[in-house]
Amino acid sequence: MKKSLIWLMAILLLLPCLTAMAETVPPPCELPENAARYATYAEAHAEMEWAEVLLHVNLRLDYPNYQGILYAQRPDSFAVFVNKHYKLPKSYKPEDLVTVAGKYSSKTVQLRAVCYEAFLCMAEDARAQGLDLYISSGYRVNKKSGGADSLWFAWPGHSEHQTGLAFDLRTRGPTKAHLGDYKYQNTREYSWLCENAHLYGFINSYPTDSSGLTGFGFEPWHWRYVGVTIATDMKNKGFATYHEYWATYLILRAWYAEEEVAPSRPHRPLVRRRVQPELLY
Ligand SMILES: [Zn+2]
Repeated sequence: MKKSLIWLMAILLLLPCLTAMAETVPPPCELPENAARYATYAEAHAEMEWAEVLLHVNLRLDYPNYQGILYAQRPDSFAVFVNKHYKLPKSYKPEDLVTVAGKYSSKTVQLRAVCYEAFLCMAEDARAQGLDLYISSGYRVNKKSGGADSLWFAWPGHSEHQTGLAFDLRTRGPTKAHLGDYKYQNTREYSWLCENAHLYGFINSYPTDSSGLTGFGFEPWHWRYVGVTIATDMKNKGFATYHEYWATYLILRAWYAEEEVAPSRPHRPLVRRRVQPELLY
């Protein structure tokens, strides 16, 4: 009896350690095809840990903004990744766009059905708490505006809004906090979202102090659907950005092709393809 009690106590004491071990985050994926770029980048950034080098190069931050572009081959995946180096195919438009109900949007806003269904669940639960999730912008195709280093404007094909999986929120009424206004971070809605959005599959794409990785400034109003599994896993593992999560876990599952940059072959945009039939994303 005494022995089994000791064992029980030992297990109880060890349990938190075992749980912590299970949640240990590995370094970002080390891709063989990036080997030379990892080495070059590490040499140029001697101050960086190797894991940070892997992260930056996987995100293609070793290229100038909007150069070294890869095109998403699965743009309809809700895990699709876009930044200043990963791009949606030319002329991509989601096929399942739906219009957001007037009570949740300030004008005609469209989102992909999968995103909108999750948003409705979230908005209705928020409403039950006396909170108002109100969308000011959803699917859109940006015009090319702002310089390559702009923290606020994404070029065509590089915006999460073009996936139909992202939207901007604001409050309504005379004291509205609107696009470009940091006041949204002071709302009860924003605090609630930070605690609960992952339960519905949403993340804040551009949190504070992440512009070095994401290429965009802090946008408390911008939320994006990645699905409950990913959003919850990110939360549990403490990932602040989808960029880090994607470069760590999902890059191997993604299916990208390198942009053809040789001017002599302008009509062959895909020069390399990594085909994985078991792709999940
Ligand atoms: Zn936005």
